[in-house]
Amino acid sequence: MSKILILGAGYAGMMTAAGLEKNSEPFTLVNKNSYHYMATLLHEAAGGRGNAMNYTVPIRQVLTKPTSTIVEDEITSIDREKKQVHGRNGTYDYDWLVVTLGWVSEYFGIPGMAENSLSIMDVDSAVNIRNHIEQEFQKYKEDGDKRHLTIVIGGAGLTGIELVGELVDWLPELCLKYGIDRKDVDLQNIEAMPTILPMVSETLREVAARTLTERGARLRTNTKLVKVEPGVVHLEGGEAVEAGTIVWTGGVRANPILQQAGFTVDRRGRAKVNEYLQSVDDPHIFIGGDCAWFEENGRPIPPTAQAAMQMGPVLAENVTAAIYGRPLKPFRFHNLGTLASLGREVGVGQVGNLPVKGVIAAMMKEASKVKYLWQLGGMRLTADKTTDVVHI
Ligand code: FAD
Ligand code: NAD
Repeated sequence: MSKILILGAGYAGMMTAAGLEKNSEPFTLVNKNSYHYMATLLHEAAGGRGNAMNYTVPIRQVLTKPTSTIVEDEITSIDREKKQVHGRNGTYDYDWLVVTLGWVSEYFGIPGMAENSLSIMDVDSAVNIRNHIEQEFQKYKEDGDKRHLTIVIGGAGLTGIELVGELVDWLPELCLKYGIDRKDVDLQNIEAMPTILPMVSETLREVAARTLTERGARLRTNTKLVKVEPGVVHLEGGEAVEAGTIVWTGGVRANPILQQAGFTVDRRGRAKVNEYLQSVDDPHIFIGGDCAWFEENGRPIPPTAQAAMQMGPVLAENVTAAIYGRPLKPFRFHNLGTLASLGREVGVGQVGNLPVKGVIAAMMKEASKVKYLWQLGGMRLTADKTTDVVHI
């Protein structure tokens, strides 16, 4: 029997595994944790909203077949010659490999950024941001040093802006808890380009900017971060901002394991695949989600959860087809639009060509989470993950 090995239980990995279960194909899935997390909601965990466990799903709650083997391990390398994958706890053989190991932060070689900033990369790192901000507030109460109340978010793409949205919601609560004047908290979002959210229309950008600035965020565009030291962000032009909290949301690249394994990669470390999501370097390897360099009309599609979710079923179908010598199915990306939350109650976005904003956008974003849970685990999972939201 052919051995199928899936690496990573994110959106692409889980949807692939669920598809293989439907096809009654046994597989082994190796993931760092025993749970799957919804990365699209991690800004909520970082911004003090809810219990982090609301963003996770035990893998076994979704993948229930006894023929599905789930292994908790951290993958360290892929040996394509030997058809083996190495992890911290073991070595895994494969006949067919699916690599869906997601993304890491892209630091663009900015000196000190990786060492001296926080970023959202998984549940733990998101919760760490939340805890760090609260600890800085506690320190301010002890020593009165206002630097503890300066928060810098570097980058105003979707991650940066969604995080700022969470923070403008949470900071008043935190100020109340510690008896701090909200006006003493300096929340700065620093963006190198002339605008925030370049992927949405100008009107929606203005709505987002107004919503966030009215609630106390400072949005600084045309301002580039060039160096970071402990507690200090250096900007192009010479200004230095001293901040107790520095979060980097300046971009992502694919898991470095792909580049290390010698795949053909783009400048963001994504491994090139053909129209069937099959590695151009090895027909026994399929690659999905943020790890895949998939081009449509000559351009790579951006790394998003919606693409990763759509790739999963095609990966499952194509691995099965490859095993049985059937024709493979080409992947087509259907762009459903973009929705950015600006805190708990409002958002902005484009669904198809339709601009959406305010409560409607926030509700549509919530609906996309419900749709995903439904696709992944049906009614039981959807009910489990939508009825126990705790605001703290
Ligand atoms: P991931 O979801 O990152 O999953 C990778 C999996 O691999 C994880 O389970 C991880 O634990 C595991 N893993 C990683 N390394 C190892 C290792 N060495 N060994 C074992 N396991 C490992 N996209 C949208 O389309 N819509 C949104 O609204 C949206 N919101 C976002 C909000 C935030 C705050 C962020 C950060 C991103 C958002 N994105 C959104 C982007 C989206 O989250 C990613 O594109 C998506 O998660 C990619 O899915 P994936 O399956 O490729 O990888
Ligand atoms: P991004 O690359 O989209 O945005 C990063 C931002 O940081 C850019 O605007 C960039 O100009 C800025 N930047 C880079 N270097 C800088 C510097 N030195 N100084 C100041 N600013 C700098 O990254 P992201 O926001 O993390 O998004 C990553 C991927 O995840 C994207 O594909 C995005 O679409 C997806 N995502 C989607 C959603 C959503 O749909 N709601 C939310 C988050 C992320």
